[in-house]
Parts: sequence; C-alpha cells; structure tokens
Amino acid sequence: MDKPKPNCGVIGIWGIPEASTMAYLGLYALQHRGQEAAGIVSTDGKRLYRHARTGLVADVFRRRDILERLPGDMAMGHNRYSTTGGSSADNVQPLLVQDRTGPIALSHNGNLVDYWRLRRFLEEEGSLFQTSSDSELILQLVARSHGGTMSDRLMEALQMVHGAYSLVLMTKDQLIAARDPLGFRPLCIGKRDGGWVVASESCALDLLGAEYIRDVNPGEAVLMDKKGLQFLRFAKLRERRHCIFEFVYFSRPDSRVFGDNVDKTRRRLGHYLAKGHPVENVDMVISVPDSSNTAALGFSHETGIPFELALIRNHYVGRTFIEPEQRMRDFGVKIKFNPVAGVLKDKRIVVVEDSIVRGTTLKKLVSHIRNAGAIEVNVRVSSPPITSPCFYGMDFPTKDELMAAWHSVEEIREFIGADSLEYLTEEELLASVPHDNGQGYCTACFTGKYPVPIDVEDDTVKFD
Ligand code: SF4
Repeated sequence: MDKPKPNCGVIGIWGIPEASTMAYLGLYALQHRGQEAAGIVSTDGKRLYRHARTGLVADVFRRRDILERLPGDMAMGHNRYSTTGGSSADNVQPLLVQDRTGPIALSHNGNLVDYWRLRRFLEEEGSLFQTSSDSELILQLVARSHGGTMSDRLMEALQMVHGAYSLVLMTKDQLIAARDPLGFRPLCIGKRDGGWVVASESCALDLLGAEYIRDVNPGEAVLMDKKGLQFLRFAKLRERRHCIFEFVYFSRPDSRVFGDNVDKTRRRLGHYLAKGHPVENVDMVISVPDSSNTAALGFSHETGIPFELALIRNHYVGRTFIEPEQRMRDFGVKIKFNPVAGVLKDKRIVVVEDSIVRGTTLKKLVSHIRNAGAIEVNVRVSSPPITSPCFYGMDFPTKDELMAAWHSVEEIREFIGADSLEYLTEEELLASVPHDNGQGYCTACFTGKYPVPIDVEDDTVKFD
C-alpha cells in the first residue's frame, strides 16, 4: 500500500517459565514490524529448540503443541520483513547454528551497510553461507572470534560491522541483547517476576506485564545469565542517530521508543503541522488510518477543527491480497479504505497523512473522498518529502520511484488531485521529537545525508 515497510521485530525472554509462550505473545505485539515470517528459539539449558516459518505469528504458531515443543525459561523470537536477503525460507529468523562452543541463535532488526564487502571477504577466506541474510554475517564473525566468552566474541564481531542493528543472541545459558553505536533501531529492557524481557518496542513489555526499565544504549550489550544483568560497552559513546521515521510511522503509538512516548511525539508532529501549515475555513480533520490517526488528533487539538472518522480501514486485508485483472483495477485501495459518505458529503476537509512515497495510494484516496461528496480536499503530511531511500533496515522503493525525489510539491499536489498540499519541514520535524536525553536523529530519507557511509554509486548521496 505505497508505504515504506518496517523491517523486523525482536524479543528475548530470560528467566521466565514458559518463555516461548511469552515470546509468542510478544511477537503478536510486534507483528506490525514484520509480517513475512515469524520464529521462536527456546532453551531448557540442555539444547536449543526452534520453530520458524513464513507467515504471520498466528499462522506460524497455529497449533498449541508447537509451543509445547519449545520448552525452557529462556526464549527469543523474531518477526521478519526482508530487507537484505529476500523472502526465502532460509532467511527466516531466529537463525540457529552450531558453533564449537555449542548452539547459538540470533534475531536481528536492522541492516548492515557493508554486508557484501564483508561477505566477499569471508567467502574468500573459506566461509560458507547458508542464507542471503546479513544477520548470518554476524554469526560468521562470532564463530571466527577467539574471544574468551560469548559476549566478548559478539562484541568483537559487532566492532567489524557497520550499519543498523538491534539484536538478541542466545546460547544454552545466556541471552545477550545489543544495539549499534548510533542506535538506529529501538530496543528496550523490562523486568517481570525476577526475569527479564528485551523487545524492539515497549508495547511488547506491556502485553507481557513487564515493567520498562530503560533502552539498551547505543553501542551497549546487555548480558543476562545466572549472575544477573551486566551492561557492557563495545563502542564509544557517539552522537546518536535514531531513525526519526520510527516516530513518524513505524512504531506503535502505544510504544515508548528512544526514551519517549510515540503517541506524544506523533501528536506534536500534528501540532507543528497545524501551526506551520494551517488551512482556513474547513469543517473537519480526517486521518488516513491507522498510522496517521495520532498526528491528525494533534492537528485537530491545535486548530480546534473537529476530528472525524471518515475513512474506515478494513483490517482483514493481508499481504496476500491479489489485485484482480486490469479491467477491475483500483480494488487495492478501495478494499482497504472506505470513505464514510454521510460524514464527507458537502464538507471541506483536511486529510492528515504521515508520509508520501509514490503518491499512488493517496491519489486514489483523494478521488474516493471526492466521490463520497467532499467539496474540498486539503492534504497535510506529518513528515517532509521523502527524497532518498533507506539503507538502514527499512524497505523503501528505489529513488527513481520516490515521488518527491523528482517532483515539486506543486506537481505532487496536481498528481494526487488535492486542493492544497503541504508537508512538515525538516526543522519542524526535528522540533517535534525529543532531545532532552541526548537523542540525535537520522533524517537521511528526507535529506539524503547518510550518517553511516553506504556502498552506493550515487553522487546525490551525502554523508553526515
Ligand atoms: S533513512 Fe529514514 S527510514 Fe532509514 S533510518 Fe534514516 S530516518 Fe529511518
């Protein structure tokens, strides 16, 4: 549906009975971060047990006996949407390998920017790869390390890679969570009943009844074992580069990421949008559900213009929806969103949308809203124009397909058929997100300034 696709969600459980069931529930809470595949690895201290398949969490763990075959009080899970690698079944995570010290499992959210260079190097050295996933590269580097402990080996491996990673690694007696030095992707820790939970977003902790403790810091590994919790630093403290798009669109509004509440930040996006880009004489504010709901509420609160539910989203349209024949085109948008004619008839409206990628979905939506009787459709976007793709773990179309990379705002307005179109500026976006705890942000998809060099032959790419 013409949106960047979130990549993955990870969860780790240490010291909680029926840990695989906890991981399963946590994956449900993180389903929005990846709908292509799901998996869990657990351990009872003797061996590691794995079940992982393509499909949604509910499909992959459809039968009760699957979780019964994942015993132990330590487990980890993964929801996948492929970025590097592709959607082959081989790439489904958690990955599970046999090392000279025993089995190791890994779940990874992010994208390594030097994957191909390192893979070619390792292949020349004799390494064999079973997947095309960048996560396997981390396991290969761990396997080659001669560090004394698993945490030493993991930290040595992480010093050799560049890019975005929030990951969980598990052996028969340890769980280790780690986050890249710039902190692109979120990862937080919670506690419950003397055990620990790590998760991509705090909405998973809430579901499990775990109390949020804090984020795993960028450049930090957190080791959980019988000795308790140890915080280990493997990279110097640097200016952070959290993915600002987590606040705009990816994370759930009920989550806390990068130390702040997503709902609160997303409302601020709406406030700034309303202040900087007002619309006169309109009857209502509507959102493109669900990801734009919160920013639309912020817009409504700032302006006093009533917020109405005028687009109803069908939540049962899965990734498997197949667009019918050409002569019946346009069902894709219609099946997902239906305008409420009784609300829209003869009304002047503001539609709040979180982002525009190709513009094709919004064009159809504007047309459906007009057909439902709206007499004026103004679009306000709660992020700046997306002009560059992401290399840090989000699946964007190529630069060629990004509408704003090649068209002015006026040309986009004309294309989508709106009466007016305005975007949040980069300054307004940065003013909306929290900075009170040393946070810094990656804004590369809006600015083209990439904080970690990427191996691309594109002279429009600049590095921070
Ligand atoms: S390029 Fe955009 S989506 Fe990717 S990490 Fe940076 S802000 Fe996030």
